Amino acid sequence: MSRVINFSAGPAVLPEEVLRQAAEEMLDWHASGMCVMEMSHRGPEFIAIAERAEADLRELMGIPGEYRVLFLQGGATLQFAMVPLNLLAGKPAADYVDTGEWSKKAIKEAQKFCRVNVAASAADAKYTYMPEQAGWRLDPDAAYVHVCSNETIGGVELHWVPDTGEVPLVVDMSSHILSRPVDVTRYGLIYAGAQKNIGPAGLTIVIVRENLLGRAPKSAPSMLDYKVHADAQSMLNTPPTYAVYIAGLVFQWLKRQGGLAEMERRNVAKAKVLYDLLDASAFYRSPVRKTDRSRMNVPFTLPDPALDAAFLKGAAERGMVQLKGHRSVGGMRASLYNAMPLEGVQRLVDYMREFGAKRA
Ligand SMILES: *Cc1c(COP(=O)(O)O)cnc(C)c1O
Repeated sequence: MSRVINFSAGPAVLPEEVLRQAAEEMLDWHASGMCVMEMSHRGPEFIAIAERAEADLRELMGIPGEYRVLFLQGGATLQFAMVPLNLLAGKPAADYVDTGEWSKKAIKEAQKFCRVNVAASAADAKYTYMPEQAGWRLDPDAAYVHVCSNETIGGVELHWVPDTGEVPLVVDMSSHILSRPVDVTRYGLIYAGAQKNIGPAGLTIVIVRENLLGRAPKSAPSMLDYKVHADAQSMLNTPPTYAVYIAGLVFQWLKRQGGLAEMERRNVAKAKVLYDLLDASAFYRSPVRKTDRSRMNVPFTLPDPALDAAFLKGAAERGMVQLKGHRSVGGMRASLYNAMPLEGVQRLVDYMREFGAKRA
């Protein structure tokens, strides 16, 4: 067996230790005689798995008691609709900061529910920076302020926490949740699809302040109402049991690594190796403003797009895959999530040096 170095933006690399543990437990989880996929979600075994996963996530992120943790489905994309449906509470508008492809999608969906005030936009520079809060024009009628704190495609990351006063701050953290410590109390609601930095696709995590629950209109479908899910302990219907189990194993793995402060230290070190090369190179280019560069998703370009295919081919021959950039940005993108080891980034940088030297 040989595993590749996987730079996918998502679904993405998982810790090998977690995959091995899942393989060992596949046929017989903790002497239950069952695979986790075969268990009733209402049985004691799965209830224990789900409770442990939530407790470990709470410990890792320091989630206070007045916040509820929901394990949902539908991806971050469903949150683009659930957020306005649940949080508008009769208000006519919501503020959105437009920082790239994912915030654009969130804005488009929210426009079905309310007047969207684009408080700031980085479209003027092809989404290569994070607009400073001093330039945001917030709407006094807005029910909440929405930001995507890591634009997976553009590689732009919010390295500070906006201050929205009494207005709840809602953040799409899909592609950098658990990559660094966060002060949850600064947010009204945090959401993230699991398949970037947590676990398998099919699970979406929502962390929501309790006083924001129960605001959905009466006509809202039960499956789209945060309060209904919170009251049902995320078991209104069958949850994505296997995805919850794997996410739980990832949380345990993160605790063994030393928690989110240690992950941040490693993620800073990994990103530095790649950005240092990009900055020193006349061959490669990073399109993103230095202060706003993502530690998780690093887009870069070669001097001529005609070289892209040869670059990707050489990378694949060296066991490095899923480096092709998103069509909207072009070039390459290396995603360096928690489960990507430093050696993987070093291998990439060694190859980039070699490739650049041959063609410069
Ligand atoms: C991947 C991604 C999404 C969409 O996630 P789905 O699970 O496919 O709905 C939304 N926002 C961000 C920031 C993402 O990276």
